[in-house]
Amino acid sequence: MTVESMVQAVYLVAAVLFVLSLAGLSKQETARRGVLLGMTGMGLALAATVALALDRSERPVGQTAGLILLVLVVGAAVGTWRARTVEMTQMPELIALLHSFVGAAAVLVGLGSYLSEPAGSGGAVHLVEVFLGVLIGAVTFTGSVVAFGKLSGRLRSSPLMLPGRNWLNLAAVVACGGLLWWFLAAGTAGLVPLLLMTVVALALGWHLVAAIGGGDMPVVVSMLNSYSGWAAAAAGFMLGNDLLIITGALVGSSGAILSYLMCRAMNRSFVSVILGGFGTGPGVAAAGGDAEQGTHRETTALEVADRLTAARSVIVVPGYGMAVAKAQYPVADLVARLTARGTVVRFGIHPVAGRLPGHMNVLLAEAKVPYDQVLGMDEINGDFGSTDVVLVIGANDTVNPAAQDDPASPIAGMPVLEVWQAREVVVFKRSMATGYAGVQNPLFFRENTAMLFGDAKDQVELIVQAL
Ligand code: NDP
Repeated sequence: MTVESMVQAVYLVAAVLFVLSLAGLSKQETARRGVLLGMTGMGLALAATVALALDRSERPVGQTAGLILLVLVVGAAVGTWRARTVEMTQMPELIALLHSFVGAAAVLVGLGSYLSEPAGSGGAVHLVEVFLGVLIGAVTFTGSVVAFGKLSGRLRSSPLMLPGRNWLNLAAVVACGGLLWWFLAAGTAGLVPLLLMTVVALALGWHLVAAIGGGDMPVVVSMLNSYSGWAAAAAGFMLGNDLLIITGALVGSSGAILSYLMCRAMNRSFVSVILGGFGTGPGVAAAGGDAEQGTHRETTALEVADRLTAARSVIVVPGYGMAVAKAQYPVADLVARLTARGTVVRFGIHPVAGRLPGHMNVLLAEAKVPYDQVLGMDEINGDFGSTDVVLVIGANDTVNPAAQDDPASPIAGMPVLEVWQAREVVVFKRSMATGYAGVQNPLFFRENTAMLFGDAKDQVELIVQAL
C-alpha cells in the first residue's frame, strides 16, 4: 500500500468523522461528543497531510519535517494563547477574524498554484478553479476583516451607504466575469487579469459587508462562515485534495443553512443580506433613535426578592449583558432556589440573544442549568401572558416591543420575546443606554416594568442573599 492510498483512506475516515461531528453538534446533549469527533477527524487529517507532504517532498525529508513542525508550533502557540484569553463575548470577532484567514489562504493557494504551474495539468478547468478560488477567498478575506472591525467596535456599525451601491456591486461582478474571459484567453500569461480580479474582489468583499448594519451582523458572520467553507472547497479543487473539498462543502452548506435560519428568526431577507443590504433604504439606520420616551420606575434587589417570593411562575430572559457581567452562575443559583421552593421557573432564549448563535445556551449549560428549563422563543412566547414575573437580565433589543409596534424602527419586523405581556417585568441593566442596535426600548417606560440598575451579577447575588 502506497503512502498516497493510505492517506486517501485516512481522509475518508476523517470526512465521515466530520459528518458525525456536525450531526452531534445539532443537539446540546450530544454536542460534546460532536466536538470530540471533529477533533479526532482533524487530528487524523493533519497527520495524513503531513505524511503526504513528507512523501512528496523534493527537499530532504528532515528539512520538510522541520519546516512543518515550525509552522505547527507557531500556529498552535498563537491559537492556544488566543483560545485561552478570548472572552466569551469576543467570540464573534474572533470567528470573523479566523474566517479572514481561510479567505487569505484560498487567495494564496490560488496565486501560488498559478505561479508554480501556469499551464496546469487540468487545462481550462484548473484555470477556472484557480480563478473562482481566488475570487471567493478575496471576498471572504476583506468581508471578514470588516465584520471583525464592526463587531469589535473598531469600525462604525452603521451601514455604509455609497450612492448607487447595488450598481457598484453589479459592476464588480461583471468586471470579474470579463477578467475571467481574459484570464482564460491569456493562458500562461494570465497573471495580470488574475491580480486585477483579486483587487476587484477584495473591494467587493469590503463593500458587501460595510453596507450591512450592526443589527444584521450575526447573519453576516454565519454567511462569511459559509463563504470560508466554499473558499476552502475551492482550494481543495486546486490542490486536488478530496478531504478539503468535502470539509469545505460541509462548512459552506451548514453556514448557508444557519444564515437562512437566522434570517428567518430575525425576519430579514436572506437575499438582501447576501447582496450587501440590497433593498434596504438609506434611512433605516437613522430611524428610531435613542431618545428616552417617558419616565421609568426604579426598583431594588430587596423588592425584587419579595416579588419573586410571591410569584408562582417566573421567566428569565437573558441577553448580552448577562454574558458581560458573567452573571450566569448566580442566575442559575437563583433559579435553582426558586425551583426548589416550588416556583415554576423557565428561561426564554431569543435566537440572536448575545453576540453569537447559541451564546446564551452555552452560558447556561456552563452554569449547569437543566436543558428542560431552557426554552426557545417560539416555545415560550405564548406563556408570558400567564407569567407573574419576568426577569430580563441584560437583554435589550431582543425584548423591544418597537419591533412589533413601530414600522420605522431599524429592528421593525424582528420577532421579539413578548415579555411585556407578563404581570411584572424587571429589567437588569446599568443605565438607560441602548442595546446593540442603538434604539431606545419602550419596554423600559411601560407601567408594569421596573428597572434594576447595576451590574447584573451583583444584583442577582443581592437577590439570592435576600431570598
Ligand atoms: P443587547 O445587545 O440589545 O443589550 C444588552 C444590554 O445589556 C445593554 O442594554 C446593556 O445595558 C446591558 N448590559 C451590558 N453590560 C451589563 C452588565 N454588566 N450588567 C447588566 N446589564 C448589562 O442584548 P440582546 O442580547 O437583547 O440582543 C442582542 C443584539 O446583538 C441584537 O441586536 C442582535 O441582533 C445583536 N447581535 C447578535 C449576534 C448573535 O449571533 N446572537 C451577533 C451580533 C450581534 P447597559 O449598558 O445600560 O448596562
